[in-house]
Amino acid sequence: MSAKRKPPSPENRLALRRLAETFSLPRMEAGWVWLAGAGPGEPGLASLLTLCAIAEADVVMSDALVSEQLLLLARPDAKIVAAGKRAGQAYPRQTVISSQLIGFARKGLKVLRLKGGDPLVFGRGGEEALALVRAAIPFRIVPGVSAGTGALAYAGIPVTHRETNQAVTFLTGHGADGKVPDHDWRALSEASPTLVFYMARKTAGDIASKLIGAGRSPDEPAAVISCGTLSDQQTRLTSLAELGPAAAESENPAIIVIGENVRLSLGLDWLGAALHGFRLDPDPLKNDPLRSAG
Ligand code: SAH
Repeated sequence: MSAKRKPPSPENRLALRRLAETFSLPRMEAGWVWLAGAGPGEPGLASLLTLCAIAEADVVMSDALVSEQLLLLARPDAKIVAAGKRAGQAYPRQTVISSQLIGFARKGLKVLRLKGGDPLVFGRGGEEALALVRAAIPFRIVPGVSAGTGALAYAGIPVTHRETNQAVTFLTGHGADGKVPDHDWRALSEASPTLVFYMARKTAGDIASKLIGAGRSPDEPAAVISCGTLSDQQTRLTSLAELGPAAAESENPAIIVIGENVRLSLGLDWLGAALHGFRLDPDPLKNDPLRSAG
């Protein structure tokens, strides 16, 4: 990967350094591991701490979903290790990743473990951090914008909205066996007006059946947001009954959101308005937009 990288711009790195000094940000230290979130895709959503760590690290162990553009900030002599996993592709075992992190840190290197979104949201960041604790390696955790909030914001769907949902649940749609995890569907159905699923593209049809079986309406609004926050983001508005086929249309990682707050997208899809001239409905909750749009 490093052979294909463009040379980093010294001006950019200097500008970052100056900003970090302005805010007296902590710097990476030899023998430390930073576990940092890169955000959901748009490089501008990575935090200043994360950007500085990329520019400073001796080793960057990066996930598959991390933007390649961000890695351009790495030092030309930094070692970039692809450690991410993608559904259906071979990936290093978690224990291998953890022991590599420990090995690099023990050599006295500044080690950055860069993960998509937030490292502690369905990212196994906690497991990696615990491995560091067991090995007595000092570490810092840098949170990131998670896809479950970032992709929704870029689709104009508030994660919470007083009129539609005062609670939200974040879930995985993918158990260790590749099937839908054994969630308590009845409890979720009754208690959580909005459900945000990660890793649920392939199991969306099953999830919808389970929720409808547990009492949710087949007409409830749902959205499938793929490539969230990137220039090729796609938001598919649908209903719970049609969720399976809608999710199958996407080949890219997607966030699935189910709940009345999805209707707000018709009023707040600022990106669709900017890119495609969508007219924003100032009163999206009083209409029945999903059906009239379909
Ligand atoms: N730690 C990450 C989540 C890792 S699990 C975070 O906080 O965002 C990987 C899943 O996240 C994907 O299967 C998909 O469901 C979701 N995801 C990650 N990036 C995404 C994006 N740009 N758009 C939509 N979904 C995304």
